Amino acid sequence: SNKHRPTTAELRALDAAHHLHPFTDHAALGAKGVRVIDRAEGVYLWDSEGKRLLDGMAGLWCVNVGYGRERLAQVAFETMRDLPYYNTFFQTTHAPAVELAAKIREVTPEGMELVFFACSGSEANDSMVKFVRYFWNLQGRPEKKIMISRNSGYHGVTLAAASLSGLTPMHPQFDLPLPGFEKVDAPYWFRDGGDLSPEEFGLKAAASLETKILELGAGNVAAFVAEPIQGAGGVIIPPATYWPEIQRICDKHDVLLVADEVICGFGRTGNWFGCDTFGIRPDIMTMAKGMSSGYQPISAVVLGGRVAAAIGGADEELSHGFTYSGHPVTAAVALENIRIIEEEDLVTRVREDIGPYLQQGLQSLADHPLIGEVRGIGLLGALELVADKATRSRFPADRSVGMICRDHCFGNGLVMRAVGDTMVVSPPLTISREEVDELVRLARTAFDLTA
Ligand code: PLP
Repeated sequence: SNKHRPTTAELRALDAAHHLHPFTDHAALGAKGVRVIDRAEGVYLWDSEGKRLLDGMAGLWCVNVGYGRERLAQVAFETMRDLPYYNTFFQTTHAPAVELAAKIREVTPEGMELVFFACSGSEANDSMVKFVRYFWNLQGRPEKKIMISRNSGYHGVTLAAASLSGLTPMHPQFDLPLPGFEKVDAPYWFRDGGDLSPEEFGLKAAASLETKILELGAGNVAAFVAEPIQGAGGVIIPPATYWPEIQRICDKHDVLLVADEVICGFGRTGNWFGCDTFGIRPDIMTMAKGMSSGYQPISAVVLGGRVAAAIGGADEELSHGFTYSGHPVTAAVALENIRIIEEEDLVTRVREDIGPYLQQGLQSLADHPLIGEVRGIGLLGALELVADKATRSRFPADRSVGMICRDHCFGNGLVMRAVGDTMVVSPPLTISREEVDELVRLARTAFDLTA
């Protein structure tokens, strides 16, 4: 076509004038403007100036099957042509939604029964909070309403999901959290472990949940919500003692256990779900991101056991649902994405081959003077930048060492994210050994430049 293609400078000017970005300090952009991403293939991105970037974050932890999958484009095209839209309200359904629900049931742990669709992780978590309330109302326990989640947890940005989130800088602009949302400790051994072994600290962090439940009264507590591994909070890997103790506490006090699998799901930790990796038996799971590898916006809430029985068996209409719940195009793409994960056996690949290979590569950076700890599992990893390795002391908050390091990564062709001074990685599950080597090499260069 002879349509005028805007130049990068034109795009930047229009962007500055008209585009309000999520999670962006607009004033700080200044004259430099935004980075414009043009295209992507495999694990690489290209910006509008032709610079190639290895995407160590799989977008926002979501492009599990990698970029450039023709099959997903084809399925989207065919579904959009044949049934671009129809809803799943009022006793109606269509094949993509049904087949996807059945497939989700197949890959989730034993006991998971019913799948509700939404379009984002936030909507899934918001819906989950409503299902938790509804469940206890159906049980005749309407006083059981308080939601407990964790410091450093991230569950999204809608009113309820942001209230669940424990990244407190997200709250004051919006007068959050809402009432009825409480927080307990994260199992963040590197920062908070003191003299305790990881195992002792795991029990201590879990005990903060029991203390909170007793303080609030178990009869008032509805659910505990947690990511199997906290992602956006800094890839916080719980000690082995943590999850069994959490499970025991929830069982003992009749508190529903909700696993937010938005990052951990669909192979990231070397199993289908983080719950499989840690032996968690959740009552409810929420998922998004890797469900469609980010090719379409889709998420799900999966109800198990007594929650599925109560809500699925309620003798009244469920007064909740989105116009795009189970949207045929998003559902068909998610289904095809899961088939790719199955056919290429990407989950086993993460567990047995490329996950351990990445972890070994990241561990090779542990000798760097800036690195206080390297941790990870599967294709999730974190590197803690410290001012002093021996004392683990942090850099002064106003030095923004994480941001400086992130910019050096970008500068030499690697996308890594900074959570404060913790550098995190979460590449596509398809990353090759050579690409892992390149990621580790580029990260070391960035650390050298930051030091
Ligand atoms: N839950 C977790 C664990 C997440 O990491 C995220 C996003 O990063 C969300 C929920 C929110 O998902 P979304 O941004 O699709 O609303």
